[in-house]
Amino acid sequence: MTYSQIKNEIRKRILKLRESYQVNKEDIYKIKEKFLSLLDKYKSERILLYYPHKNEINTIPIIEELLKRKKTVLLPKVEKGKILPILISDISNLKVGFAGIKEPEGEVFPKNSIDITVVPAVAYDRRGYRLGYGKGFYDRFLQDFKNLKVGLAYKFQVLDKIPFEKHDIPVDIIITHEEVIEAGRERSFLNK
Ligand code: ADP
Ligand code: MG
Repeated sequence: MTYSQIKNEIRKRILKLRESYQVNKEDIYKIKEKFLSLLDKYKSERILLYYPHKNEINTIPIIEELLKRKKTVLLPKVEKGKILPILISDISNLKVGFAGIKEPEGEVFPKNSIDITVVPAVAYDRRGYRLGYGKGFYDRFLQDFKNLKVGLAYKFQVLDKIPFEKHDIPVDIIITHEEVIEAGRERSFLNK
């Protein structure tokens, strides 16, 4: 099997688990709290998040809290297969866009003035490597992104190892309701 076939198998398996997963509000609250605790530790004035789609971790409570704290909050808009970060001032005037996901309208924000990008995924491994939906959108976006990359996950979305290819860009931190995984550290321990 090729790497991309293995990735497809894992994608299918985890998406199936996610479809039938009973979301626990308490877990979402814990993930939010853990994410907010990062704000004291890292530069975090300008944050790109994602708008939750299907059974992805619900980021809306985080977005609302960040807006309340007067942070610069950005959401992605997909145009010609590219992710564009767009500033939002509230969450109510988004429009359905690419793949049925809600997105903002407005000016494109410069990528490298973003402090934190919250990167969605189907699954992550403990080294930070991630499986997206198979289009490589975030790999392209993150290729020249220099700052902190954070993943949010249910426990079943964190695997030991996901095969990765040269173009795959890992995240630095993964948050589950139970732990904050310093994936960058685990990667350097493993020397890869
Ligand atoms: P995902 O990250 O969404 O799970 P993959 O990593 O399998 O998906 O990538 C999907 C496709 O996108 C692959 O064919 C890959 O070659 C392409 N791709 C990803 N990143 C880049 C890049 N930086 N430049 C060109 N093609 C890319
Ligand atoms: Mg990839």
